[in-house]
Amino acid sequence: MTSIAFIGLGNMGGPMAANLVKASHKVTGFDLVESLRSQAKSDGAALANTAASAAQGADVVITMLPAGKHVLSVWTEVLPTMRKGALIIDCSTIDVESAKQAHALAAKHGIASVDAPVSGGTGGAKGATLTFMCGGEDKAFAAAKPILENMGKKIVHCGGAGAGQAAKICNNMILGVSMIAVSEAFALAEKLGLSHQALFDVASTSSGQCWSLTSYCPVPGPVPTSPANNDYKPGFASALMVKDLTLAQDAAKTAGAATPLGKHAQEIYKAFDAAGNGGVDFSGIVKHVRSLAAK
Ligand code: NAD
Repeated sequence: MTSIAFIGLGNMGGPMAANLVKASHKVTGFDLVESLRSQAKSDGAALANTAASAAQGADVVITMLPAGKHVLSVWTEVLPTMRKGALIIDCSTIDVESAKQAHALAAKHGIASVDAPVSGGTGGAKGATLTFMCGGEDKAFAAAKPILENMGKKIVHCGGAGAGQAAKICNNMILGVSMIAVSEAFALAEKLGLSHQALFDVASTSSGQCWSLTSYCPVPGPVPTSPANNDYKPGFASALMVKDLTLAQDAAKTAGAATPLGKHAQEIYKAFDAAGNGGVDFSGIVKHVRSLAAK
């Protein structure tokens, strides 16, 4: 049994902390929101009044927070209270630069650290089937892996500090661009009088095959489990896709990489979000793509 402090008990962190309790760890939770603390309590976690008191004496501290500024602020608060030899893991999706700063802060306090953003969404968080993309030193990763295995199915060591965040935003840039490409193909097929199923049957077994088509098809019918069959309820909300595409653009600027399609995808998702669709699943972009034809 490991003693774990879990800070940030939202849509993802709540069920992830509950899975650590199920795996018989001693979990102490903290969130700013009272109702989320109560939920964690009924899931079997102990509660603390502050992030620092949750972290005090813990073997492992895990953060699952909205953005880099929250992570840096919470890590600044908890690191001085942590015992030497303990481990801190951030599972939030944040910018690469903040992730690197967070690792440097931990090193200053003699605490091992791992950035471990996830893919798999709230379903993966509940079902403990997340994929973790990890950055950090070998020894820190080796210590983090058995803990992360209680919340996920696949744990990948991507490299040093910030490498997990780098892998996450590169993957999600592919996802954003490919979902728009698949949506454009369906919109064109509709205008050409081709049925959704006919395009799916051909492209899913041809060179157009990709996850956005075969696992998460943006039109209803061909893939019964895709959000298109459930009025585009998320799944993965468009606002989160805007966030990840923006992180990718920020990283591309800092690193001097050219990502013209990533930039265009960011603009398209931003327009969809600004029209009030932030809570719609990101595959709902097919509706936006269709609407462009009328303009
Ligand atoms: P969320 O907003 O539901 O949860 C974040 C929680 O952090 C909130 O409950 C908030 O009260 C808490 N918080 C903020 N500042 C805090 C502080 N100083 N101390 C304690 N708690 C604090 O968000 P989420 O959907 O759970 O996402 C969390 C992270 O995971 C984000 O970085 C997101 O990009 C990433 N992510 C989300 C999904 C998804 O499908 N929801 C998928 C992959 C990755």
